[in-house]
Amino acid sequence: MTEIVEAPSGYSGHGFFATSLEKAVGMARKNSIWPLPFATSCCGIEFMATAASHYDLGRFGSERLSFSPRQADLLMVMGTIAKKMAPVLREVYEQMAEPKWVLSMGACASSGGIFDTYSVLQGIDKIIPVDVYVPGCPPRPEQVLDGIMRIQELVQKEEFGRRKSPEYLKMLEGYGIK
Ligand code: SF4
Repeated sequence: MTEIVEAPSGYSGHGFFATSLEKAVGMARKNSIWPLPFATSCCGIEFMATAASHYDLGRFGSERLSFSPRQADLLMVMGTIAKKMAPVLREVYEQMAEPKWVLSMGACASSGGIFDTYSVLQGIDKIIPVDVYVPGCPPRPEQVLDGIMRIQELVQKEEFGRRKSPEYLKMLEGYGIK
């Protein structure tokens, strides 16, 4: 039988395999991340190349892009974010259900990039928390895939209680998010 994904650690014997619920859920979530592409400029084009057949996001169970925040797990921010756009990005983040993750793709989303100017947000982490940053202008599809695989690692290892922990709530409070 072909192994589709790696099984979590556990105990196996004749006709049975046992693991914890947390690990089973982690495995399922890791391999079915639905990204919401928030693309404003050229990094978005590079993401399209990443998703298409040559690099194939489907290999990671993430080919189903979600343009509805309520049916998305991973907010992927790609491109220059103007300050006028910042409240929109934040609203999209707030509309996503927990658990959710954020990937910042490219120099513009991560730091404003070359646009060190009054109208451009100098990094999305000024308004929302970010889990993984992918450097580059634009990053190559291999880098984007590496970023998604790092998100997968976080998703797999996430403990059930993390989103209700005092540390997590305090971090959200720091962003003024309830
Ligand atoms: S990081 Fe470079 S490629 Fe990406 S949106 Fe900014 S200018 Fe465009």
